[in-house]
Amino acid sequence: MANDRAIYFDNAATTPLDLRVGEAMAPWLGDEYGNPSSLHAPGRRAHATIDKAREQVAALIGARPQEIVFTGSGTESDNLALAGVIAAQCDAPGHLVTSAIEHPAILETARALQRRGVALTIVPVDAVGRVDPDDVWRALRPETQLVSIMAANNVIGTLQPVEEIARITRDGGVLFHTDAVQAAGAVRFDVAASAIDLLSLSGHKLHGPKGVGALYVRQGVTLAPLIHGGGQERGLRSATENVAGIVGLGRAAELAAVHLSSEIAALSALRDRLIAGILDACRNAYLIGDPVRRLAGHVCIGFSGQEGEAIRLLLALDEAGVAVSTGSACSASHTAEPSYVLQALGFDAFRARGALRLTLGRQNTAEEVERVLAVLPGLVGSLRRIATSRR
Ligand code: PLP
Repeated sequence: MANDRAIYFDNAATTPLDLRVGEAMAPWLGDEYGNPSSLHAPGRRAHATIDKAREQVAALIGARPQEIVFTGSGTESDNLALAGVIAAQCDAPGHLVTSAIEHPAILETARALQRRGVALTIVPVDAVGRVDPDDVWRALRPETQLVSIMAANNVIGTLQPVEEIARITRDGGVLFHTDAVQAAGAVRFDVAASAIDLLSLSGHKLHGPKGVGALYVRQGVTLAPLIHGGGQERGLRSATENVAGIVGLGRAAELAAVHLSSEIAALSALRDRLIAGILDACRNAYLIGDPVRRLAGHVCIGFSGQEGEAIRLLLALDEAGVAVSTGSACSASHTAEPSYVLQALGFDAFRARGALRLTLGRQNTAEEVERVLAVLPGLVGSLRRIATSRR
């Protein structure tokens, strides 16, 4: 590529640390090393800085600071929500409801609970990946303990009607959790005004650090901890706190809250230009996921007839200095297995291998979008010619 600066369009996998977040974290990786549980001045300062971060995270989603529990990741928040709610109600035979396109942090936790005797209902999605709230209502049983539906899907970008599903779930007398790891900082939440009881988020998806997350737990909701020990985080997550990480998550949440409206507008414009440019230039390209109700920075594209070549396209783009991912990113195994998310949308196994995911973030520019549009159609075309000549 003429301009040799690499372009990063994989913000759904992880986002670059905002420099302002790094600055906020720096003292807590250096001179400020006190343990927040210590009674001396360095310990009290560490404790106070965690309190401040708790306020910042709470403000992003309209919660109260005491309703935020810091964890070690989005995955841990999801595990704590599901296993914690089920374990806290262990006297009753449990039932859990979730959707077919949840992240493995939810689906694998749900399956582990199922192996321990918890009944599991997995509701389907439609062709653009939306859960029908009526399906959730119909899935509720007297013994249902929790419904967990993600706010935004990582693979296809579709937003779920979580406010409506939360209301229906509350009408049924059941707790509602949402995995908002992709949505927090990209979609406006006001948990106090909604019927959402638990919400997971993760630092590294909103220009904060990796290895830190948070779980919103509505006041009055009882959870059993997964990690036992010294009783930090109100006994819900024992372990000496990751002070620098928590400070970073707090600052990242504060910045996300300040810039939310302008970033949604800017990223939606870049996304729409990218989608239109690809669909215009590649006759066989089609958009995957909901065309309207999707994450502001999320583009997921299939190329008919070339679905098996998504990884080749990713590698060709990588060679050209553009980092993107295929539809089955976000797991440790980089196999060409068909994506369960695309299969849940009705794709057959061949087409389910074929998505290219380009996800934009705060640092991306219109110029970068044009540079990708200048290179992508040519790569799609040359891969098609190679494939045709092999037949
Ligand atoms: N949930 C969703 C929707 C995600 O996209 C991810 C990460 O990709 C996770 C959960 C896991 O978050 P973390 O990487 O912080 O464990």
